[in-house]
Amino acid sequence: MTTQRLSSFHPPRRTLLGPGPSDMNPRVMAALAQPAIGYLDPAFVTMMEEIKELLRYAYQTTNPLTFPLSGPGSVGMEACFVNLVEPGDKVIVCRNGVFGGRMIENVERCGGTPVILEETWGEPIEPQKLADLLKAHPDTKIVAFVHAETSTGAQSDAQALCDLARQHGALTIVDCVTSLGGTPVAVDDWQADATYSGSQKCLSCTPGLSPVSYSERAVAKVKARTNNPNAGKVQSWFMDLNLVLSYWGETARTYHHTAPGNSLYALHEALLLLKEEGLENAWARHRSNHEALKAGAEAMGLKYVVKEAARLPQLNSVYIPEGIDDLAVRKTLLNDYNIEIGAGLGPLAGKIWRFGLMGYSSQPTNVLLLLSALSAVLGEMGYRHEAGAAEAAAHHAYAAQHAEAAQSKRAAG
Ligand SMILES: *Cc1c(COP(=O)(O)O)cnc(C)c1O
Repeated sequence: MTTQRLSSFHPPRRTLLGPGPSDMNPRVMAALAQPAIGYLDPAFVTMMEEIKELLRYAYQTTNPLTFPLSGPGSVGMEACFVNLVEPGDKVIVCRNGVFGGRMIENVERCGGTPVILEETWGEPIEPQKLADLLKAHPDTKIVAFVHAETSTGAQSDAQALCDLARQHGALTIVDCVTSLGGTPVAVDDWQADATYSGSQKCLSCTPGLSPVSYSERAVAKVKARTNNPNAGKVQSWFMDLNLVLSYWGETARTYHHTAPGNSLYALHEALLLLKEEGLENAWARHRSNHEALKAGAEAMGLKYVVKEAARLPQLNSVYIPEGIDDLAVRKTLLNDYNIEIGAGLGPLAGKIWRFGLMGYSSQPTNVLLLLSALSAVLGEMGYRHEAGAAEAAAHHAYAAQHAEAAQSKRAAG
C-alpha cells in the first residue's frame, strides 16, 4: 500500500454565477468559523429564536411555525410532502421544470394520487389551467407548485395559484427555494400553507439548511393525522413535524437531532444581512443587476428563454448560440476566469445557459466580469459580435438607473 501525504483542502476562488450555491458574504464565512456550542446551550437557543424571527421577516409571515430544517432544499420539499400528503390524498402538482417533477415523485412516495398540470418549460404556470383542473377534480386536497423554477428562470404567480387552491378548499405547498430574498415572497398575503426554501440561493448562506413556514391550516392537518387511523404516522421519523417541534417549537426544547450549529450561525448572519439591507432593497438590487446583465447579453446577440413578464432577475437563462460548444464555454469560463455558470437541465440540456445573480453574487462587478469573460470566450470560438458592446450596454443600463433614481429623489424632495 502506498502512503500518500495529504494536505489541507483549499478550494479555488470562484465567482459563483450559476443556479446555486451563490457566493457567501465574508460576514457569513466568519460566522461559520466561530466555536461550536451545544444545541441546548442557552446562547444557542436565543440565536434559534432570532433565526425564527428573521425568517418570518424574510417570508413576510407571522406563522409561528417558521424555522430552518437541517438539510438542503430537497429536505424542505420532502418534509412538506411527507407531513401533508396522507395516503390516498389527491394532489395537483404543477410542472414547468425539473423541480415540479420532483414534487410528483414525492406525492407518489407518500401514497398520494398526483394529478399533473403540465406547462411548457420556460413558461409560468397558467392560472386558468389550475382553475380548470380544480373544477375537474373537486376532491383535490393539496396544490403544489414551484414559485421560481430554477431550471428555466420562470416565475409563476403564487398569489393567483394560492387563491385558486383556497377557493377550492385545497392546501398549498409552495417551493420558494430560489425566490426567497431575490423576488417578493409573501406567505401571509398569499395565504400559502407550506412553504420551503434553501439557504444557498438568494440567502447566500452555506448549503444544507431549508427554511420552512407552515400555516395554522397545515399544522392542523399534520396534528390530526395521529388520530386518524387511515392516515397514520408521518412515514419519515426525521421529518415528522410533530417530533421536530420538540426542538424548534414554541415551548419545549428537547433533543431531536444534533442541530448543525455553525451552519445556523451562518444562516443567522445571512438573514441579518438581508434585514439590514431591507427586503425591498434586496429585490431592487436583484432587478438592477438583472437589467444590466440583460442589456449586455442582448447586445451580444443572446436571446432569453423566458418571456419578459415572467423572468426571474436572479436566474437568467439564455439560448446557446448556434454552433457554439456548450461544455467548452463553461469549461473555459471556469478554468480561465474562475466563473461558474449553470448548464441546461432535462429537455433544455445543451440548449441553454443559466446565469445566476443570486444574493451576494448579485453585484455590478460580477455582471461586468461575466459579460466581459463570456464575450472574450465566445469571440475566440468564432461567435461574431462586437467586442466591448456588451459591457457598454451594461454601463448604459446602470447609468440610466442612476439617472432615474436621481430624478425620483429630486421629485420627492
Ligand atoms: C435548488 C432547488 C431545490 C433543491 O434544493 P437543494 O438545496 O439543492 O436540495 C428545490 N427547488 C428549487 C426550485 C431549487 O432551485
